[in-house]
Amino acid sequence: MLNEVADGVWDRQSGWVWSNAVVVRGEGGLVLVDPGIDGADLDQLADDVDRLGVPVVAGFSTHPHWDHLLWHPRFGDVPRYATAACAQVAGEARERARDMAARSAEGVPLDLIGRLTPLPADGGPVPGEVVEHQAHAVGHAALLLADRRVLIAGDMLSDVLIPLLDPRRSGQVEVYAAALDRLGEVARQVDVVVPGHGSVAEGAEVAARVAADRAYVEALRRGEEPVDVRLEQEWLAAAHQANLHQARRSVG
Ligand SMILES: [Zn+2]
Repeated sequence: MLNEVADGVWDRQSGWVWSNAVVVRGEGGLVLVDPGIDGADLDQLADDVDRLGVPVVAGFSTHPHWDHLLWHPRFGDVPRYATAACAQVAGEARERARDMAARSAEGVPLDLIGRLTPLPADGGPVPGEVVEHQAHAVGHAALLLADRRVLIAGDMLSDVLIPLLDPRRSGQVEVYAAALDRLGEVARQVDVVVPGHGSVAEGAEVAARVAADRAYVEALRRGEEPVDVRLEQEWLAAAHQANLHQARRSVG
C-alpha cells in the first residue's frame, strides 16, 4: 500500500528490513526510487502505481547495493538513473548483486538488477537535487525535493539501521561524519525524511535522526562504544563490530 508522505511523494514499505520504495511525481511522470524488495512487493507496487494513473518515466537508485538496484517489467523499459559512480559500480557488481538478491529475496527479476544510467547534468526526469556523498557506498546519493520539503535519504538517517561504514574503503568514519554534516544542512530544509529502511521521519524526528547518526559516528571517532537504542537489535551485531573494527584501524 502506498502512503502519501507529501504532495506527490508516496512510500511503500516491504517486510524485508523495512525497505522503503518511494514513488515521486515529477513533471513528466512518476520516478520510482529504490523499488523493492520481493517479487510480490514489486508486483503490488506496480498495482499501486497503476492506480495512480500516471506513467512511470524513470527509476532512481540511491546506491549500488543489491536491495536498491531492483526493477520489475511492469514498471516499463524506462531509464533507471543513479550517480555516475553508482552506475559504474552497479554495472561491475551486477553478478554479485544478482546472487545476493537470489539468496535474500523471492521472485526478484534477476535480469533487471543494476541496469543503471548516469543521471544527466540537468537531472533528466528526476525531480529535485541529488546530494552525492561518499558514506556507506560508492556514489551514494540522497534526493532532496525542496519544493515538497522531503529528503529521500538512502541508507542513512534510519531508525532501525545504525550507520553502516563501507567495509571496502578506508577512512569511512571521517567520510561518514562529513556526509552527515551535509545531510544535516539539507535536513533543515525538510519536514519529512524517507530512509532506505525503517520508518518515515516527520517534524522534530528529522533532526533527531541526524543527531542519532552523528552521536554514533562521533563515538566511533572517539574510540568509544556508542550508546544507541538501535544496537538492541541483535541482527546488527556483526555490522556494528565491523564498524568498530574499521574505526580502530583508522584511528590506530
Ligand atoms: Zn546499502
